[in-house]
Amino acid sequence: MPVLITRRRNHARAAGFSLRGAPNRPNVAACLLASTLPIMFMTSVARPQTETIRVDLKLRTGGAMSGLVVDHTEHGLVIVNQNTPHVFAWDELKTGSAFAAKRALAAFERGGVDRLSAEDHFQLGLFALRRDRKDLAANEFRRAKKLDPDYQAVIKKAYDEYRRRKDASNAQTDSLVDDRSVGTTNTAHQAGLAERVEAELDRATKAVVAPVPSAESRAKVLEVYKTFGKKVQEVIGEAVVLIESDHFLIWTDWEARYRDRLVGWCESMYTALREQFDLDPAGNIFLAKCPVFCWRSKARFLKFAREFDGYGGTDAVGYTRSIERNGHVHVVLLRQGRSEVDFDQFACTLVHEGTHAFIHRLYTSRLIPHWVNEGYADLVAERVLKDRCPAGENAELLARQFVRYDWPITELLHGAGPIPVHQYPLAHSVVAYLEGSGHKRFAGFIKDLKAGESVPAALAANYDGLNLDQLEAGWRLAVREVDPAVTPPSDGSKPLPWSTDR
Ligand SMILES: [Zn+2]
Repeated sequence: MPVLITRRRNHARAAGFSLRGAPNRPNVAACLLASTLPIMFMTSVARPQTETIRVDLKLRTGGAMSGLVVDHTEHGLVIVNQNTPHVFAWDELKTGSAFAAKRALAAFERGGVDRLSAEDHFQLGLFALRRDRKDLAANEFRRAKKLDPDYQAVIKKAYDEYRRRKDASNAQTDSLVDDRSVGTTNTAHQAGLAERVEAELDRATKAVVAPVPSAESRAKVLEVYKTFGKKVQEVIGEAVVLIESDHFLIWTDWEARYRDRLVGWCESMYTALREQFDLDPAGNIFLAKCPVFCWRSKARFLKFAREFDGYGGTDAVGYTRSIERNGHVHVVLLRQGRSEVDFDQFACTLVHEGTHAFIHRLYTSRLIPHWVNEGYADLVAERVLKDRCPAGENAELLARQFVRYDWPITELLHGAGPIPVHQYPLAHSVVAYLEGSGHKRFAGFIKDLKAGESVPAALAANYDGLNLDQLEAGWRLAVREVDPAVTPPSDGSKPLPWSTDR
């Protein structure tokens, strides 16, 4: 059975889950939720809802979501929507909506928009300017200057830096060829193409799902892939080129100057995973090489998804297709724009999906429980891309809420099926905790899962008899250790339910 694993779907459409359980102490932080989640916190002291604010967020990947803010940092914010927490990095939101939320939070903390300081306005201006919203920035800078004329100098410096950065990036993009044409081949004759390719693949692999195919088998599969790539070029258009790296066949319509990045991300991810699982550097986890399709046009992405995978992934920006029967896996990705944030987001999705592809091929082609799979894919994205990926910070920020409010994670840990996108950062945090106690143990854990063991069995076998309750307790302790802010002061003196590291 083909298995589709999608990533970065519209958060607004992700299925929700309920928060259960009550906080241990009726403190100010808990009381925030008493006002927002009255059913769960009946025994808490009633507080007015003005202790936090509602924000409307628009996501860069499409869709929108409103909710009450429970925490925010320089990195992003957590909102509760329908009793479900969602974490977003500021860069995952459309700039106007991120700016409006940031400004509303600042005003709320100061006790009114007219009480914002010159520094508040200046910082808001910087936030907008860094994201190319000169209109919003100008407003804020004007207000900062009005409150304190001394800001004139730092504002000038901010504009100078902005211009320098723009000049540098213009120099990089001015020679781009804008190729928006999508192949106009009549696609009627392509009906069933994916099926035919699958049948050819089956013949080439002789249905051998063994992780190490023979050299002969590899060569045949490579041939099938390249024939497939030619058909993709016919259907999608001549702008599609093939880049071959050590472990990947990358078909793309990207501008020539950016293509090296694709190879860099793919191979760095491969190396990170090979090292994690102590695999032979000379070996190759894939059937031949892993086909990766990287699009810069939504029309092409959708066309590919529809024609070759029979997938109407309208709200996705990437997916991995794995076929258990013959061990095939390929990855399909969309870059949404040309800004550095677009490239970063693309890279995160690439490493996330690429990790699924690798894990699909590792040891056996059995699918592992989704929370482990998604959490690990996000963890690898963070490891490989570091500051260019928001996954690590998102995981920390969301984990902080689950620990601070004692929200349960039992449902996540006991399930094996698909999890909603808003739980990925939570899964990431738990998987990072497991992986943090030794990469050999973690590799053993994954190996047992791939052999068909349940999570409790694999956990017990590789972590000295650890059960799921102990895993949860250990994880909570670890989150508290690295983030003391999760324990609010006992005197309830904190005016807000979040730390204001602005
Ligand atoms: Zn995923």
